[in-house]
Amino acid sequence: MRWGFDTVVVGAGFAGAVTAERLAARGERVLVVERRMHLGGNCYDSDAKLVPGAGREGAGILVHRYGPHLFHTEDADVWEYVSRFGAWDVYQHRVEAIIDGRAVPLPFSLETLRGVFPASMAARMEEALLRRYDYGSRIPILTLLQSDDSDLVQLAHFVYEKVFLHYTMKQWGLSPESIEGAVTARVPVLVGRDTRYFPDRFQGVPTEGYGELFRHMLDHPCIKILLNTSFDEVIEIRGGRLFFMGQPFDGRVVYTGMVDELFGFRFGELPYRSLRMRFETIEAESYQSAPVVNYPNNYDFTRITEFKKIHPVVSPRTVILREYPEAYERGRNIPYYPIFTEKNQAMYERYREEAEKIPNLILVGRLAEYRYYDMDDIVRRALDLCASLA
Ligand code: FAD
Ligand code: UDP
Repeated sequence: MRWGFDTVVVGAGFAGAVTAERLAARGERVLVVERRMHLGGNCYDSDAKLVPGAGREGAGILVHRYGPHLFHTEDADVWEYVSRFGAWDVYQHRVEAIIDGRAVPLPFSLETLRGVFPASMAARMEEALLRRYDYGSRIPILTLLQSDDSDLVQLAHFVYEKVFLHYTMKQWGLSPESIEGAVTARVPVLVGRDTRYFPDRFQGVPTEGYGELFRHMLDHPCIKILLNTSFDEVIEIRGGRLFFMGQPFDGRVVYTGMVDELFGFRFGELPYRSLRMRFETIEAESYQSAPVVNYPNNYDFTRITEFKKIHPVVSPRTVILREYPEAYERGRNIPYYPIFTEKNQAMYERYREEAEKIPNLILVGRLAEYRYYDMDDIVRRALDLCASLA
């Protein structure tokens, strides 16, 4: 029996929302079950006056509640898709890092080189980079460290030490060598002068915020939403079968939460990294020189975001967010990042195999697939998934 729904989607982040929207668009009846009190998953945003720490003084400033979310993609179809649900402001993200007490642009580029080294040294290193790599190349720091050119070795060690080592230790509790190389390769050394954080063709933030975007996405007569409801209040796995409200369910369940939780942690708890978010309203029109400033070497937080520089607004005040990485502890904080080690991946595989035994269960999303998806990756993944479903 189907209880009036063809598909139950667990989670209302991008993975769940895109899936629900696509299935409803072709006439399926979809129930979305979301544990939080709001849509949007970790992309959710709101007026700062609703945020503990920022307080009423921050009224009028839109903040991203779970950390800065900048949409960027090379995928024209993904950009067209997300543009259906509201207007987007053109926004090219910029990040600076405090290195030797100075704010310099990230990713580390030829511009950064000139900001941190004396002119003659910078010129020598630039020449060495251009001898070895094409202009515009993006080199992962762990690759640059393998160089045999003495100028490049010196540069690589400087960047490794000043940009990556301590930030990564704070963010992951692990050294750059101990996590999958793809993680630090997200912020390569750039043999060029493009000081934007992302090189992608399409970049932006929703004009009305992600909250509004998700409301539009899920506003469909075939979609019903249950907020403040956890998966296990409506769905159960028994004897390798899915049950909905106590009855066998032969519709689809698209699950976007933590896969270890889905199976009662039977193979152990998958580790995640969490963040403590500290918002603060400052009595000044502007706080820092870039929307995000990273602090690789100082303090316990990794970065400070100033939201007015992402969503511009006239106000005598400004709201900032400091992110303090910490271990994830079930029930205490939020599992933001899967931690990529071989051991964790092996545990994840056991859960994935378990899920595959249930034909009408589909795992999709950053938590359910234990992958470092950006927003555009997960939109693409959900669009492809829906296109493949009969
Ligand atoms: P989520 O957004 O985590 O959504 C999952 C939803 O499922 C949540 O709402 C959760 O409450 C719900 N849920 C989980 N378990 C259950 C359950 N048992 N029952 C009911 N509901 C449940 N990406 C970018 O492209 N650009 C950025 O700038 C960027 N910045 C980021 C900054 C931070 C600090 C973080 C953590 C991520 C960032 N990302 C960014 C990544 C982005 O957040 C993800 O790509 C995106 O949120 C993934 O969507 P999702 O639906 O898989 O997961
Ligand atoms: N990183 C770093 N120093 C920085 C910025 C990034 O060491 O100043 C490393 C760190 O390991 C981080 C990874 O590069 O986790 C990816 O950075 P990104 O900015 O993409 O992280 P996210 O925004 O996803 O947290």
